[in-house]
Amino acid sequence: LTVLGLETSCDETAASVVRRSADGRVEVLSSIVGTQFEQHAPFGGVVPEIAARAHVEVIDSVAAQAMRAAGIGYDALDGVAATAGPGLVGGVMVGLAFGKAVALARDLPLVAVNHLEGHAVSARLGAEIAYPFLLLLVSGGHCQLLEVGGVGACKRLGTTIDDAAGEAFDKIAKSLGLPYPGGPALEKLAKSGDASKYELPRALLGRKDCDFSFSGLKTAAARIAATLTTDQQRADLAAAVQFAIARQLSERTDRAMKLYAEGHAAGERRFVVAGGVAANGAVRAALLKVCEANGFSFDAPPLAYCTDNAAMIALAGAERLAAGISDDLDAVARPRWPLDEAAALSNPSNS
Ligand code: ATP
Ligand code: MG
Ligand code: FE
Repeated sequence: LTVLGLETSCDETAASVVRRSADGRVEVLSSIVGTQFEQHAPFGGVVPEIAARAHVEVIDSVAAQAMRAAGIGYDALDGVAATAGPGLVGGVMVGLAFGKAVALARDLPLVAVNHLEGHAVSARLGAEIAYPFLLLLVSGGHCQLLEVGGVGACKRLGTTIDDAAGEAFDKIAKSLGLPYPGGPALEKLAKSGDASKYELPRALLGRKDCDFSFSGLKTAAARIAATLTTDQQRADLAAAVQFAIARQLSERTDRAMKLYAEGHAAGERRFVVAGGVAANGAVRAALLKVCEANGFSFDAPPLAYCTDNAAMIALAGAERLAAGISDDLDAVARPRWPLDEAAALSNPSNS
């Protein structure tokens, strides 16, 4: 199956062509990511209205670029997959409407993809990973542990009770005076820092569930940041923050692995981390250790597919088409669309 994927749920306008063979092998023929970084940077965060307009301006040229780079014509496509939520709804509508137009004009099936399902399959763009697996989804808007049993079969084990991990990285980076988006900038600054210089709060310690909390860390870090005077101190705090986030992610994952292991044979002990924060080296290293300690395999997407991209949307679409699932052209854009509630269905508006 060859699928055109479209992603417009936040501040990236992305298009990609992915080919998935019947035996599940995956080939990315093209992946174009147009970022709106410059439009939003002056505001220190994503402005929804600016995002929606920027998507409208470039969606057709980004899609054309993806088709050109893939070296195929529209008649070689077997389907179109567009993010239908969750996300900034003005942007989601742009990609979804474009996808519907292509589907209608070329008589192709449409898949209205849950953006989080895209992140959930993104590691499969780099390696063959069998179902089921334990997934840590750590992005700008989400921080969840999920059992992924197959296409559209997710069970949530834990989620954040306040901020997402990426959001924590971004907000703390801001209080350190780093430019948006803060996660990658904080990781870079942390390289020259000493994490042991600052003691930061350890949230939810000893709790038996798999939930997360980052607001205490955020407040503590902001309070310290306001007192700093040297670049070395700022680097030390960045390192301490990164260490604290990586530690919490790995502690809660350790807990989830023990729960997962109760219901799954040794051969099914697979762990996948996905989403923008999966690009962080310290986070990956901490999670790898927990995998080794619990006898789990470790996989993460190639770096380019951690943050938002359309290859993961195309692949999620291809997996759904392979399972015989597609959506009607009246599928709606959904600002909220929890993965474990709705992803088993085709877009819930028309099921
Ligand atoms: P969602 O998928 O939940 O809707 P999103 O699409 O905005 O949110 P992603 O694109 O998956 O999120 O990830 C972006 C987040 O990842 C940002 O918060 C960003 O700071 C963070 N991030 C990206 N690279 C790194 C890094 N190297 N270290 C830490 N955080 C990072
Ligand atoms: Mg983004
Ligand atoms: Fe995302």
